[in-house]
Amino acid sequence: FKPVHVIGGGLAGSEATWQIARAGVPVILHEMRRDGVRTDAHQTDGLAELVCSNSFRSDDWQYNAVGLLHAEMRRLDSIIMACGDAHQVPAGGALAVDRDGFSDAVTERLANHPLVTIVREEIDGIPPAEWDNVIIATGPLTSPKLAQAILDLTGEDSLSFFDAIAPIVHFDSIDMTKAWRQSRYDKEGPGGDAAAYINCPMDKDQYEAFIDALLAGPKSEFKAWENVPYFDGCLPIEVMTERGRETLRHGPMKPVGLTNAHQPEVKPYAVVQLRQDNALGTLWNMVGFQTKLKHGAQADIFRMIPGLEDAQFARLGGLHRNTFLNSPRLLDDQARLKADPRLRFAGQVTGVEGYVESAALGLLTGRLAAAERLGAPIVAPPPTTALGALVAHITGGHLDGGKHGFQPMNINYGLLPPMEAPKRTEDGQRMKNADRGRAKKRLMSERAVADLDRWLADA
Ligand code: FAD
Repeated sequence: FKPVHVIGGGLAGSEATWQIARAGVPVILHEMRRDGVRTDAHQTDGLAELVCSNSFRSDDWQYNAVGLLHAEMRRLDSIIMACGDAHQVPAGGALAVDRDGFSDAVTERLANHPLVTIVREEIDGIPPAEWDNVIIATGPLTSPKLAQAILDLTGEDSLSFFDAIAPIVHFDSIDMTKAWRQSRYDKEGPGGDAAAYINCPMDKDQYEAFIDALLAGPKSEFKAWENVPYFDGCLPIEVMTERGRETLRHGPMKPVGLTNAHQPEVKPYAVVQLRQDNALGTLWNMVGFQTKLKHGAQADIFRMIPGLEDAQFARLGGLHRNTFLNSPRLLDDQARLKADPRLRFAGQVTGVEGYVESAALGLLTGRLAAAERLGAPIVAPPPTTALGALVAHITGGHLDGGKHGFQPMNINYGLLPPMEAPKRTEDGQRMKNADRGRAKKRLMSERAVADLDRWLADA
């Protein structure tokens, strides 16, 4: 067989390389880091280097979506999971790893595989025409020349975003006895719906207390490479607040054109709006709430908002430089670039977020590329699996097909089609809400694993 080419030896590229080789297809991995050549975040030449924390997050497959992704990846012989498991350090219910031991193990296994060739070079343009099966997994810090070449090819305005992300809340954790659905001035929202938004009202005292908390809350400091100016259109809310206590009331929290359905006679002093974030309607984005507050503080402060007291966050806000494609618009359901289908994309550059999610996309694209080379193409797993849900998110499961605001996303249960949790326990008692939530996750996890096994048997 002709080799498949993988560009980038991070989490996604290493996993893709492994999956291709284990399918019996030769693979050339091109990684630019060598003798002092680095990205702004990487510090070694090792493959699959973890640039920040050493955690793969929860390992609980029954009740946690990233734990479920671990389980699915283990079933598919993931090198990232195997080396992670082999180099675990104690971290309670999380899977944390010895970062050097982990990276050395991945590097060694790939370097010693007879079908793998590792070339230390930067690919600084669109790969030559004779490379007919390529995976680009160059990450959030894709080298500038390659990023520019991809921009030129896709016709996009910008590939490198100053990534301002607002928190996302699980719908079933919003208290709809306090919040209500309405579009401002009842104007039709996305999908022709005049009740497209969820609104959370605040009175004056609640607003003032909220502003005090925002001003006092601990903020993340930027690293030197993140020193990018703010765009006025996406200022963090705490920066807006520093410009004046009323700024938010005239910006994302303005109360005009909205009537509190629970108390029509009381005019809210300020309103927080949430916009539907996925096609399933399970995830809702806090409109205009991009923030660089530290994560712990975000959860506490945002739970001060009436209706969000028990909010569960699928993702918290953040602000950092990031390079990612508008994947729902640019990629097909095989994660291939529509404009040049010999190129697949994997990892953080596709708009998934996190080590495990990036590796998961590497795993899947590696399998898709190898199957194509073997002349027996396969389809991605169904969206009831964590892997399938992730790929659906980047290739079109997103609400508006990427026309506006496609943003990086960690795996979470809101990306999977929901299931009804039982209302009663086995002995007929009424289940508490928290127990129902757990039961629902467990059902969804069990469905995911069963569906993945079925997909694997058919592939
Ligand atoms: P990477 O792991 O970055 O791999 C990309 C590889 O491509 C690199 O080895 C790079 O050298 C190489 N490359 C780039 N351009 C070229 C080129 N033109 N030719 C050849 N090679 C090239 N996620 C978490 O889960 N936890 C965290 O704590 C965390 N912290 C982060 C901190 C920072 C500073 C950043 C930037 C991201 C962080 N992330 C974190 C997000 C993300 O999970 C990681 O960036 C993850 O490493 C992404 O995997 P990847 O394979 O897509 O990219």
